[in-house]
Amino acid sequence: MTQHTTDTTGVTANREPVSTPLQTSVSGFPRIGAHRELKRVIERYWKGECSIEEVRSQAQELRRTHWQLQVDAGIDFIPSNDFSLYDQVLDTAVLLNAVPQRYAQLQFEQPEDTYFAVARGYQGAHGDIAALPMKKWFTTNYHYIVPEIESVDQIAVTGTKPFDEFIEAKNLGITTKPVLIGPFTFLKLARDAQNQPLSYDERTLTAFVKSYVEIIARFQELGAPWVQLDEPWLAHGVDEVDLNALRAIYEQIVRNKGAVKVLVNTYFGHIADSYKTLVQLGIDGIGLNFVEGRQDNLDILQQVGIPQSVTLFAGVVSGRNIWRNNYELTLGVVDQLRDITQQAHANLVIATGCSLLHVPYTVELETQLDSEITQHFAFAQEKLGELVQLGRLATLSATDREKDSEYRANRSLHSGNRVATDEQIRNQVQQLDDSDFVRLPHRQERLEIQQQEFDLPLLPTTTIGSFPQTAQVRKVRAQYRKHELTDEQYTQFIQQQIDEVIAHQERIGLDVLVHGEFERNDMVEYFGQHLNGYVFTQFAWVQSYGTRCVKPPVIYGDVSRREPITVAWSEYAQAQTKKIVKGMLTGPVTILNWSWPREDIAQREQALQIGLAIRDEVLDLQKHGIRIIQIDEAALREKLPLRRSQWHSEYLDWAIAAFRLVHSKVDPTTQIHTHMCYSEFNDIITDIDAMDADVISFEASRGELVVLDAIVQSDFHTQVGPGVYDIHSPRVPAVDELAQRIRTIVSRIDSSQVWVNPDCGLKTRGNQETWPALEHMVEAAVQVRQEL
Ligand code: GLN
Ligand code: ZN
Repeated sequence: MTQHTTDTTGVTANREPVSTPLQTSVSGFPRIGAHRELKRVIERYWKGECSIEEVRSQAQELRRTHWQLQVDAGIDFIPSNDFSLYDQVLDTAVLLNAVPQRYAQLQFEQPEDTYFAVARGYQGAHGDIAALPMKKWFTTNYHYIVPEIESVDQIAVTGTKPFDEFIEAKNLGITTKPVLIGPFTFLKLARDAQNQPLSYDERTLTAFVKSYVEIIARFQELGAPWVQLDEPWLAHGVDEVDLNALRAIYEQIVRNKGAVKVLVNTYFGHIADSYKTLVQLGIDGIGLNFVEGRQDNLDILQQVGIPQSVTLFAGVVSGRNIWRNNYELTLGVVDQLRDITQQAHANLVIATGCSLLHVPYTVELETQLDSEITQHFAFAQEKLGELVQLGRLATLSATDREKDSEYRANRSLHSGNRVATDEQIRNQVQQLDDSDFVRLPHRQERLEIQQQEFDLPLLPTTTIGSFPQTAQVRKVRAQYRKHELTDEQYTQFIQQQIDEVIAHQERIGLDVLVHGEFERNDMVEYFGQHLNGYVFTQFAWVQSYGTRCVKPPVIYGDVSRREPITVAWSEYAQAQTKKIVKGMLTGPVTILNWSWPREDIAQREQALQIGLAIRDEVLDLQKHGIRIIQIDEAALREKLPLRRSQWHSEYLDWAIAAFRLVHSKVDPTTQIHTHMCYSEFNDIITDIDAMDADVISFEASRGELVVLDAIVQSDFHTQVGPGVYDIHSPRVPAVDELAQRIRTIVSRIDSSQVWVNPDCGLKTRGNQETWPALEHMVEAAVQVRQEL
């Protein structure tokens, strides 16, 4: 194979004039429905309120709608098999017969029932079985089902979904590009029966290759010109061993793919370390992301070049944001890509940066927001239009672009300041100095002061903040939102909830109490509603897992605190008891990570703006007599870059700083807690200790107390509350079991450093299991305390 290279400057003057626009490709489309139709019908089905036929026909209708939208927009490569009733990784597992036998043994009549049992567990007439675990999909807030492969010998193409959906589209007159999770990424995501990663042995690789070859052959029969294999794993970075496996897999696929063209699609970052290997394998198309991985992908492309036979699918429209594309900027990149591909006589197609699964449907539904604001938005449907516009504009000369009304409108949208700048907050961020990030005195000294101050017993017991949100609580909040209740009525209701929850906590003997968070719908939206710079959409839902969707608030302008947010509730709660009531806040990194961030200023800047707002709230709480304040950072780990080399420079350096900013000015007598919803922080344990909180609670209840090792080994100084029971399940753990767990903890960590708490907030639980469980927890703590 000849290698075509371009000169490394990447700039060539003789761009060939082309009259036809660049072709466009979509990696994947959202599937939940613009009005969450899929969620609705599936949840009704789960409740036994509709038949499986209704689910199937709703699903079919959604697929048709989505394909037609893309046809109408003028997209050339339209995906199929991007649809899913729950998750595309689980779909792949089912397709490959890679689902544990125990699910098939439930003997359901409908295949969907088995599928849902894998996804969410099942308890009923057919048996009692837990779901497969769920994990975050790379750096997104989407969660996939982790495939469990009992034996690689079982792998075979037993499913028909991708073929059925290809035929379904074809019958509508639409030739689609089937999309599958690629063999390499699937292998990396799957686990064996012992929950260990799969190995690259001959048997495993052969099993996968055979199946994918078979799938491609079937698509050849059906007349698919292209098949897209998604290999986002490559964005993690790979070593020699990975590269050998990748090579072994794709050499076989290429050799046996027949007339079908294979696109290896990557996203969520650059693939500089695997690009060369990939393009040498004889694949027909490579998808590179020029949004998240822009510079590195450009560099490697320039360095290595691209073979004539390879079509470059360039992801230039983000699948991760809600903002209008900046045409001028994007065309700058596309122009470079055209130079490179034209020199090599290779084809260029422009594409979405990743699947549009991670963005909402359409701005058209957002009628309550000012058009001043929505003109800056582009959701999935609008991004289709952008892609087509970019394809057209790419072929115009610079002068013709200048004359183009679309181009000019886009440029004026992006020129100048999009929003009125809040000079005061900008200056405040500008003027932050080292002292804003350092809390004094040092933690050891603070802890001694706090010990005197609070006089808590050993192994103090507490909870993470929220208590069960009953139907009544949710109803009253909704009524208040619709102005059906007066401020007074609402306040009275919440206060009554607080009274009850405080009295109950006292009764069962918890040491540090909480007010229960009854006023909050969501730990981020609630704060957003009290901050300047935030706007809220009505329908901008994004799938998080299965039928579960989230609607993140939008950071639109500079953020500052409009008014005290939690002070009145916390103060009220504290007035009801002699025990300490913890104030409860969400931290800046979590607020940022669970919002749509701006792209016109850096993430760091936004985190510090939010940090200053929350700092005002912290100081206000302290002023009003709140002596322990918990600042949740549930989502701190979420946006950790895929590549370790970027962890600090791109993220942790400012994320940890933003947290330190929030509590740097509090008195030594005020104790700062934080909370995280996961236990995988062995690899960032030093950074977590560097947040300089006094106490941290985290999830540790599902057996994996490995984090204790890390704490012991890493010279960790924050006091710790490893969750002693799992709140995700309604199960009430017995006193003995809890005591045993606490003993395990204090056998590893000095008891003076240990707190006792559940592993997360209790708002999704019912009161009937919550109170017995907490009672058992307190009893267990008292028991172990006496043994010390
Ligand atoms: N304080 C919050 C609660 O208890 C924390 C929630 C979370 O960590 N996800 O609900
Ligand atoms: Zn949590």
